[in-house]
Amino acid sequence: MMKYEHLFFDLDHTLWDFEKNSVATLKTLYSEIGLVNKGIPDFDDFNVVYHQINDKLWDRFRKGFMSREELRWKRMWQTLIHYKISSEKLAREMSERYLEILPTQTHVFPNCVEMLSYCASKNYQLHLITNGFELTQMQKLKNASLDKFFIHLITSEKAMSMKPQKEIFEYALNEAGAKIESSLMIGDALDIDILGAMQVGIDQVYFNPYRIPHKGNPTYEIAGLEEMYQIV
Ligand SMILES: [Mg+2]
Repeated sequence: MMKYEHLFFDLDHTLWDFEKNSVATLKTLYSEIGLVNKGIPDFDDFNVVYHQINDKLWDRFRKGFMSREELRWKRMWQTLIHYKISSEKLAREMSERYLEILPTQTHVFPNCVEMLSYCASKNYQLHLITNGFELTQMQKLKNASLDKFFIHLITSEKAMSMKPQKEIFEYALNEAGAKIESSLMIGDALDIDILGAMQVGIDQVYFNPYRIPHKGNPTYEIAGLEEMYQIV
């Protein structure tokens, strides 16, 4: 008898290589908008600045201090401000293009497709629980050819709750018709995926590709997706 029946995956930074895809998107944006002529001479520098600001604002968004809409354009606006460019119009244009280009990128983590195929072949029910935007996540899945693996895509928009809040996990269990004890959550964020699942009693797999030391206590920990074969 298999211990688990339902596998709930996080998407960004767990299956879909957000970092790589975001850098590729910014690179396209950088040349498309001609930022080199607008006062941002170096792409690598721009890339670092943007990601620092984005991390900071995502944290504020997660804590409920900022709306999605604000997050979307203000991360560009604050990046421009860093370079002494004050243009809300340009920030909004960049934000729009970023969101259009990002989900067309297709980098996934090594062994992602093999691992998902393996799980599907073993008759596990695969789902996603993501704090990302509904439409964006759907596009990412389609473009990276991952959509075929998943039965339910649970987003915070649909569940009206965000990881680590327990409501989104309860919503996911309910949607999937899954029991707590036969469910497993796989994600890269200790304080979001792992903590959230732990709080509702779902076993967790912490995906920690850079082997960052931590004080968490997940049920399992892996550094590569192929290590899932030892768990399921
Ligand atoms: Mg993640």
